[in-house]
Amino acid sequence: MSRVGEVPGTIIFSVFYFLFSLGFLYESKEARGLGLTPEFVLTALGLVKDEENSFIQYHVRRTSGTIVLRSLLPFVYLVTYSYVSTYLDGDYRSMSEFFKDHTWMFLMLKLSAALSVMAVSYAWYLSLNNYVNHPIIQKITAYAQGSVETLILDINHEFRRVDKVCVEVNSVTHLVITDNWILILGSIPQHFHICHQHDAQLTIMDSDSHSLSPEGDAGGAQYLSIQVTNRKPGIPGFRFRVNSLEYQNIQSKLQAAIQNIRNIQISKSVSDRFVDVFKAEVEGNPRAHVTDVLEPCIGCMVNQANVKLVRVCGTTNAEENGVPLADRCVNCYCRPMWCITCLAKWFASRQNQDLPETWLGSRCPCPTCRSKFCVLDVALVE
Ligand SMILES: [Zn+2]
Ligand SMILES: [Zn+2]
Ligand SMILES: [Zn+2]
Repeated sequence: MSRVGEVPGTIIFSVFYFLFSLGFLYESKEARGLGLTPEFVLTALGLVKDEENSFIQYHVRRTSGTIVLRSLLPFVYLVTYSYVSTYLDGDYRSMSEFFKDHTWMFLMLKLSAALSVMAVSYAWYLSLNNYVNHPIIQKITAYAQGSVETLILDINHEFRRVDKVCVEVNSVTHLVITDNWILILGSIPQHFHICHQHDAQLTIMDSDSHSLSPEGDAGGAQYLSIQVTNRKPGIPGFRFRVNSLEYQNIQSKLQAAIQNIRNIQISKSVSDRFVDVFKAEVEGNPRAHVTDVLEPCIGCMVNQANVKLVRVCGTTNAEENGVPLADRCVNCYCRPMWCITCLAKWFASRQNQDLPETWLGSRCPCPTCRSKFCVLDVALVE
């Protein structure tokens, strides 16, 4: 009997297979890093290709393929288990002897084989007549005015644009917002949803906060549960849950405002919160009079430049007080080139990211001439 130490190979195999299956089903970060996801397997087999150019076709095939691959998990487990027990642990002379001894496992093997056959048949049924029976195509067809192919081409075309918004809702679900469409892409065909922006009404239904964030953001994470109600009759709405840091990103691509009827406080990232505090501080500073013609901010090109750096904090000529050079602000002669929001973001980006409580009292180089300034030296122009 050859065994790995004292532990039977079947136990070691079972533990690894269990972890592998979890990663495969939930497409964890680790599984994605190792390429152990249905998407990766299907791409490697050449069954799906080119999401960028054939977006809808890609997800139609990917979701069908995922059902088949998932259905194979129990069958592969039972066959490999019997192989390991027979040949690695050496407990039986052949795999048929193993199954003779484990009748219930043989029954499971037959059931799992039946499950796989059913999944393959279902995928085959979905693929008939150019996938007309596929839930993704059926949901899209509800919007087709004429041929569904034209509509698919339109959606594919919008997906190719760089300004679409893609948000990871969870490891197996993505939200995609294009100019006209809101789409939810899940792992299986039934988890697909589509709504035209004109028909959609988004409402924040609920929120939940956690002191620890999976991305390690300071201040924890808040999740918003957003309901999409479809005004088009006969089409049910859907709901998704998303990190509140994505809220602005999602709202920016939507034609209508997200309703917040329950008045849920949406938490912001540390940097966004700092921008608010920075702006409030600067509001209290003396104003600067300038004669320059104010141009658009060179950071965002949207707002008009509205801040100038004027040394008022008293550290500039503080040599006599023994203030070290590194802690002194230096005169800046730049004309107003930045808006307050961009300057605040710049200020935050130049600070120690692990110590946000020190930011407001710190210094930062002028984005243009690199002379140091503090929050007291920022003046709104009149
Ligand atoms: Zn700006
Ligand atoms: Zn400057
Ligand atoms: Zn200063």
